[in-house]
Amino acid sequence: MLIEENKPLAPFTTFGIGGPARWFAEAASEGDVAEAAAWANERGVPLFVLGGGSNLLVSDAGFDGLVLRMGLRGIAISLAPDRSGQVIYETTAGEEWNGIVERAVLADCAGIECLAGIPGTVGGTPVQNVGAYGQEVASVIERVRAFDLKERAFIEFSAVECGFAYRRSRFNATDRGRYVVTRVDYRLTPGGAPTVRYAELQRAFPEDAQPSLAEVAAAVRRLRQSKGMLLVEGDPECRSAGSFFKNPVVTEEQMRAIAAGSGKEPPRFPAGPNSGSGTENEGRVKIPAAWLIEQAGFAKGYTLGKAAISSRHTLAIINRGGATAAEILALASQIADTVEEKFGIRLEMEPVMVGFVLSQVSESRPGAPTSMR
Ligand SMILES: Cc1cc2nc3c(=O)[nH]c(=O)nc-3n(C[C@H](O)[C@H](O)[C@H](O)COP(=O)(O)OP(=O)(O)OC[C@H]3O[C@@H](n4cnc5c(N)ncnc54)[C@H](O)[C@@H]3O)c2cc1C
Repeated sequence: MLIEENKPLAPFTTFGIGGPARWFAEAASEGDVAEAAAWANERGVPLFVLGGGSNLLVSDAGFDGLVLRMGLRGIAISLAPDRSGQVIYETTAGEEWNGIVERAVLADCAGIECLAGIPGTVGGTPVQNVGAYGQEVASVIERVRAFDLKERAFIEFSAVECGFAYRRSRFNATDRGRYVVTRVDYRLTPGGAPTVRYAELQRAFPEDAQPSLAEVAAAVRRLRQSKGMLLVEGDPECRSAGSFFKNPVVTEEQMRAIAAGSGKEPPRFPAGPNSGSGTENEGRVKIPAAWLIEQAGFAKGYTLGKAAISSRHTLAIINRGGATAAEILALASQIADTVEEKFGIRLEMEPVMVGFVLSQVSESRPGAPTSMR
């Protein structure tokens, strides 16, 4: 396996931001993953797993360790052994996620049609339990295979063992940085009905319509594009990491305080649908971070240097061209501070921070970082 030095990381991220990786390698097989892990371990350098770079903010100084890009390719489809008539898509981590959705929809297999158009790789999907428009991968993941960097062995997890919740799993929480996901198995339903439970998606169809999987996936893509949430070549609005903040999950008491603070009844969603997250969200609701940001006085298109809030979606921070990671963080801080002052809620960042030191992204500044390496 070729190990390159001082490889610029910006071109590997959807933000287009970030300094170099001290070392950089691409894994094409599980053997490569084990070899890279051994290489980093022998030298005592940290290892960072790079998928499609669509949920990252890489620091301007880059990453002082080995960045391992997931290039494993391949997919095998088989009937589920339980005779449910469902099928299992065994998919290697480097496959492009949207390609898997397209393939499933074309084969009339239900379960991931609302996740069309989400950038990144298969290996990235269990990490933050990717979700959109009423679906989460947690509801279709059968098994995750990964290399354990601590035990230096491959291991397989059932969906329950992955500890999925809203934008969370063991891979970005308790076991952050410990596993390299090499394969994800999804359980899909041939001939199944599409999921059309998200209000905005429902409005895309006439009331008595029975849209096909392909029609639902196409509607999701149109909605995403209208918000700059679809990667379209040459569209500066999608030079982002998607949603920059998670939607806070709050208690009814907090909801009342927010309503009092804004003089308006805040919109709400059930906390953690399909997440299998046990009882931790009981009695809680999800409030759109975009609404909080707007009520705190930020409008779409708000600009700070070369960073801006997308002109099409309040939740996305974009690189207007030539922005640094520091500029993106400065805008994120300003937003999170203002929301906290007004509503007493600290917004949590969704993208993973790579190569930052604590003084740059402190726990008290732009929302608790989801990762610090
Ligand atoms: C325009 C746009 C729209 C988006 N819309 C959505 C959305 O609707 N819903 C949503 O949930 N997300 C959304 N995202 C965020 C992002 O696409 C997802 O989080 C995606 O799953 C990240 O995958 P990736 O391969 O790009 O991971 P990366 O960005 O490369 O990495 C993200 C994290 O996952 C880890 N990781 C990646 N691959 C592996 C692996 N094989 N093993 C172990 N760890 C790994 C990395 O180490 C890092 O910690 C959007 C992003 C953009 C740019």
